[in-house]
Amino acid sequence: MTPLLEKLLWLSHEIGRDDRHLAILGEGNTSADAGDDSFWIKASGGNLATLDETGLTRVKFDTIMAAIDDASLDDSGVREVLLASRADAEAKLPSVETFMHAVCFKEAGAKWIGHCHPVSVLQVLCSKLGAAPFLQHIFPDEIVVCGRHLAVVPYIDPGIELARSVRAELRRFREKYDGAPKVILLVNHGPVALGQTEREVLNILLMLDKWARILVGNFALGGPAFLPDSTSTRIDTRPDEHYRRAQIGALKK
Ligand SMILES: [Zn+2]
Repeated sequence: MTPLLEKLLWLSHEIGRDDRHLAILGEGNTSADAGDDSFWIKASGGNLATLDETGLTRVKFDTIMAAIDDASLDDSGVREVLLASRADAEAKLPSVETFMHAVCFKEAGAKWIGHCHPVSVLQVLCSKLGAAPFLQHIFPDEIVVCGRHLAVVPYIDPGIELARSVRAELRRFREKYDGAPKVILLVNHGPVALGQTEREVLNILLMLDKWARILVGNFALGGPAFLPDSTSTRIDTRPDEHYRRAQIGALKK
């Protein structure tokens, strides 16, 4: 097995761990840019906790991106596109979220992606408040690891339409903040973590899980004491926080 696939399985198993409550059964998906106009992604229906090499499919970017650009294509034609996108015709059908992952690689410059359905984060995203509690900050480490600003997409059925909406949100985000987010919050669905390494993706998801659990506790105690925006921005730009970010990113498994 190549080092890339070993890392992708490591990330999948870490996200799928029972004790983390980030994903159960066939929930969630992981992917890695192969650097040759293709990427590896979890096959449809696979269990992250027990995934092995046969549960990963390599997909060609051009087939997927052409489908997203083809306005006449809706979810009914998606299965054929997914089958045609496989680099190896013997490989399993890639996840229906392949379109969203492709957009995150192309539009946000991610190299590794993890998407899951954490109990903690969904306690917030499925509440009447939706993503709003994540749009202000409450402690420094979540700013350092998850980013100063998060992208948000309203509920849309998984598939090609969701990918188009994620693309529009990533373009809006780039226009507004001159960069890419580390987190996309899919309301009533779950988060997507965008990283440069497999370790960064896991760190983002673990910190987001902690942040969400703290928020839920805050709401039980009268509501979060949000940091002023100026403080959040200072934390995001402080040199020692950049150092801390680098240290966190450098932590090895
Ligand atoms: Zn999902």
